Amino acid sequence: MVQQPMSPNQAPSQPEQPEKMYLPRTSESEQLKKIRHTASHVMAMAVQKLFPKAQVTIGPWIENGFYYDFDNPEPFSDKDLKAIQKEMVKIINRKLPVIREEVSREEAQNRIQQITEPYKLEILADIKEEPITIYHLGNEWWDLCAGPHVENTNELNPKAIELESVAGAYWRGDETKAQLQRIYATAWETPEQLAEYKRRKEEALRRDHRKLGKELGLFIFSDLVGPGLPLWTPKGTLLRNILEDFLKQEQLKRGYLPVVTPHIARVDLFKTSGHWQKYKEDMFPLMTDDEEAAALEQGFVLKPMNCPFHIQIYKSELRSYRELPMRLAEFGTVYRYEQSGELGGLTRVRGFTVDDSHLFVTPEQLDNEFLNVVDLILSVFNKLQLKNFKARLSFRDPTSDKYIGSDEVWDKAEGAIRRAVEQLGMEHFEGIGEAAFYGPKLDFIFSDALEREWQLGTVQVDYNLPERFDLEYVAEDGARKRPVMIHRAPFGSLERLIGILIEEYAGDFPLWLAPVQVRLLPVGETQLDFAKDVVTKMLALGIRAEVDHSGDRLGKQIRNGEKQKIPVMAVVGAKELETNTLSIRTRASGELGTISVDEVLDKLKTAIANYENF
Ligand SMILES: [Zn+2]
Ligand SMILES: [Zn+2]
Repeated sequence: MVQQPMSPNQAPSQPEQPEKMYLPRTSESEQLKKIRHTASHVMAMAVQKLFPKAQVTIGPWIENGFYYDFDNPEPFSDKDLKAIQKEMVKIINRKLPVIREEVSREEAQNRIQQITEPYKLEILADIKEEPITIYHLGNEWWDLCAGPHVENTNELNPKAIELESVAGAYWRGDETKAQLQRIYATAWETPEQLAEYKRRKEEALRRDHRKLGKELGLFIFSDLVGPGLPLWTPKGTLLRNILEDFLKQEQLKRGYLPVVTPHIARVDLFKTSGHWQKYKEDMFPLMTDDEEAAALEQGFVLKPMNCPFHIQIYKSELRSYRELPMRLAEFGTVYRYEQSGELGGLTRVRGFTVDDSHLFVTPEQLDNEFLNVVDLILSVFNKLQLKNFKARLSFRDPTSDKYIGSDEVWDKAEGAIRRAVEQLGMEHFEGIGEAAFYGPKLDFIFSDALEREWQLGTVQVDYNLPERFDLEYVAEDGARKRPVMIHRAPFGSLERLIGILIEEYAGDFPLWLAPVQVRLLPVGETQLDFAKDVVTKMLALGIRAEVDHSGDRLGKQIRNGEKQKIPVMAVVGAKELETNTLSIRTRASGELGTISVDEVLDKLKTAIANYENF
């Protein structure tokens, strides 16, 4: 053992498993709708009691609570929020009945003019149906609302309500209009629910990938580069490479063929695919050096998708049925013009890398090949230790015109997806209107440790692009036939996947994925060369190892390693040097004591190869 004590004897921090309490979203619970609606009116009444100059605007429920926008000369402070919450308790305890009243439009206008609330007039103008419904709290406060509400304020539990924060907001989201004060708040059926909600909120903050990404040195953003365009630092790049290599190996085993295609192309490519017609607003604008060309919509664009490029490779030769299925795969970076208000961290970005593949199959091969793709996706999720997901059948909305292709072709494609899911006995649900514009999808929706839902992998069946690009193969009987395309991406996008993984693991990557797997901690200068030798041996075996060069005292080295969430730390003191051993401490199992160098190398190799922890 080393002479110096191993840092404070705390157990290595593990991501706590949140206990399972079901917290319904507002859209799922009639009772929560009533509670949150009513609470928002109570809040507005309290605000106007304390701040008589405040004008009320809108106060809808949101999935975890509600907000209300006020026009008030001064921004609300945290102290104000406390006072407002206190006032709300008073109102609730007065047991005011919540009374619904129906009035004509003219009567509503009259009432609004009496209380001089100009915003309400605009809101009234937006209400198309008559009669207009007004809700009263007792006989001293009312609001325009369609409901639903509880019947009496005393049905609200004051201990299950909390005002959370204030933010600026513009009237109707329009920055040329008045600046309002938005109070975010939440209300639940019981104090226990509120406590669980707060616990999850805190946990979400602890796991926030934007915060952890910075602390662990994985990626950065730069104002000069632009919003939604992450820059990957060395450790983050390693993480990407590990994920890419892992999937590339899996794909090679399954007969995929790698390809590489450019980041820009003539806009004509996307006119043929239909992207330009159906997807233009989500693409970066046309690049052209000449006005005439611009007028004709000629020039180059950044690619929003990889499909049309892979199609060109398929089309470059006349294909035989013997070559099919042909599975072309690329980690292809695509660019989409997301609204800047929607950007945040890695889960929504403007440039991202899709683990894309396009499979060209005969109609007879479709069902089987689809199952193979689902099998690949499930095995990827398994290695990533993602267990909680369900499948969404993302079909077209038959009433919408945003799709290309005939009903017949869509029915065929949707049928193939339905058959696959039924054959696999997978838990699934339907998402009408969630299809891509060229074909239906099977999407994997993952719910994380905090029961938030994320879309990960996707498989799509497509009869339309083969038609538009006039794809063919020579069938067994010599006839030219049309292949079917499968688009698929198990990760979805690397950026999004990494954001989700950081939060799911709370930064504690499984050993095989960790950018740094082992850190050697030399107690003093004398042990440095030995530590370096061990690192060299590890690197030669493909184990990602490094030495702590800081010269810090051991306690500090350990604390730094913990902060960086390094899976395995190996301490080298005088005794270890003498006996050719390492004193091992892992995040998964705590202190393992002193182990010979050879045994450590052996165990690490096995654990990594088997996707296990050490
Ligand atoms: Zn209401
Ligand atoms: Zn595609």
